Amino acid sequence: MLKFDVVVIGAGGAGMMCAIHAGRRGRKVALVDHATVIGRKILISGGGRCNFTNLFAGPDNYVSKNPHFAKSALSRYTPGDFIELIEEHKIAYHEKKLGQLFCDGSAQQVVDLLVSESERAGATFFKGRVIKLVERDDGFLVHTNSETFSCQSLVVATGGLSIPQIGATGFGYNIARQFDINVVETAPALDGFNFGSADLSKFKELTGVSVDSIVSVNQAAFRENILFTHTGLSGPASLQASLYWKKGDSITINIAPEVDPVAYFNERFADGSNKEVKNILAEIIPRRLAEIICKMENIKGNISELSEAKMRNLTAKLEAWQITPQGTVGYRKAEVTRGGVDTGALSSTTMEVKKVPGLYFIGEVVDVTGQLGGYNFQWAWASGHAAGIAV
Ligand SMILES: Cc1cc2nc3c(=O)[nH]c(=O)nc-3n(C[C@H](O)[C@H](O)[C@H](O)COP(=O)(O)OP(=O)(O)OC[C@H]3O[C@@H](n4cnc5c(N)ncnc54)[C@H](O)[C@@H]3O)c2cc1C
Repeated sequence: MLKFDVVVIGAGGAGMMCAIHAGRRGRKVALVDHATVIGRKILISGGGRCNFTNLFAGPDNYVSKNPHFAKSALSRYTPGDFIELIEEHKIAYHEKKLGQLFCDGSAQQVVDLLVSESERAGATFFKGRVIKLVERDDGFLVHTNSETFSCQSLVVATGGLSIPQIGATGFGYNIARQFDINVVETAPALDGFNFGSADLSKFKELTGVSVDSIVSVNQAAFRENILFTHTGLSGPASLQASLYWKKGDSITINIAPEVDPVAYFNERFADGSNKEVKNILAEIIPRRLAEIICKMENIKGNISELSEAKMRNLTAKLEAWQITPQGTVGYRKAEVTRGGVDTGALSSTTMEVKKVPGLYFIGEVVDVTGQLGGYNFQWAWASGHAAGIAV
């Protein structure tokens, strides 16, 4: 049996950050992960360049049953703290947009940083799939497929269900249930939408069309591009909206956010040029989209022939096009899992389970899910740090 002060299950961003801070305090730490490649999620993140934080990360960028839970950890480990680490390791980076920081080079640099800092702090990496946990008076026994570990503190950093093909499992949720801790219903998120067959046949000619939009759902609204795909909607604004969407909800899309459509058409009406409606529309949105909208609204011919009722329908469609997706794309593509270990069971300062001293949950396995744009890594770093200085 291998004896450690702390065993961290899952050597992703949250697990390694926890190991770094616990190790620096002199705790003997084991990081156990079944994946063949360390930090796979980091490696595939941000298109291979890892959007490692967001300059503006704050509690409002997260979805959780308790929106206040993340405040403490986020305020004690800020984007500035992670940037300091990035700079110490001489990793060149840039702000792409909206406070999103990416490596200039490769996400591998972030993995190398975390692995080297973990090892420098004395943590040891083990390859193994954790299959069973046993609580004892003096801590825990952690059984993997090849070893047994004993430890005083056990940190669960097993992530969410997204991308099972690279090692995601629901094991963290099973541990929660083993200790009678509630798990908030999970769902794939930051994955865009699938349409039902009726909408798909209406929109199939739009595949590949991208347009600057505002997508709104359940009081959240995002202004970025949407992209029509052969199964539904993708693009950053759709991914963001999927975090707030629940089965049966409609999404509302403003496909011409730069324009006041009523004023625009009135002006075009008045200027006497009398062009075809679809051509006028194609001056403010992509032509294929203009054509499909005219088809959907049964609009043909020139602007002078447009009835008031059709004009009203058309402008309403531009400003507030309502679509009810059939679902989101699913865990195979989703960047994150919404829901997870109920924050009500955890201390917001240490991430320790209130009724099970020594047991901690950090990172994506917890019911704190960030928007697209570096927020999820910031939560991984901040929650890992919060536990790392407590275990
Ligand atoms: C394609 C993609 C792109 C993304 N891009 C970004 C981005 O640019 N910026 C951003 O902020 N977020 C991004 N995310 C989200 C971000 O990657 C995750 O939120 C973050 O990695 C979660 O970190 P974690 O440490 O909690 O979990 P993970 O990184 O998922 O780590 C969990 C680890 O636990 C291990 N594990 C699971 N079960 C067991 C078991 N039973 N035994 C042993 N080990 C186990 C897994 O192998 C895994 O290594 C992206 C996600 C995806 C899928």
